[in-house]
Amino acid sequence: MKVFVDRDRCQGHLRCYALVPEVFEPDELGHAFTNEAGNEVPPEFESKVRQSLGNCPEQAIRIEQ
Ligand code: SF4
Repeated sequence: MKVFVDRDRCQGHLRCYALVPEVFEPDELGHAFTNEAGNEVPPEFESKVRQSLGNCPEQAIRIEQ
C-alpha cells in the first residue's frame, strides 16, 4: 500500500499525524506529508492509514494498493 497527501487540499488539521505519526508528518507550515513509510506502508499501520482517509475533513489523503 502507498499513501499520498494532496498538498493542494491539505489544510493542516493534522488528524492524520495524530492517528498515524509513523507515516504522516507535519511540515514547517503545519501541513501533512508522508514520510518514507508512505511509499510502502508497513502492514501493521495499514488499518490506521485507511482510517485516516475517513478522518481527513479535506479528503486530501489517497491510497494505492
Ligand atoms: S487530516 Fe487531511 S487536511 Fe488535515 S493535515 Fe492530514 S491530510 Fe491534511
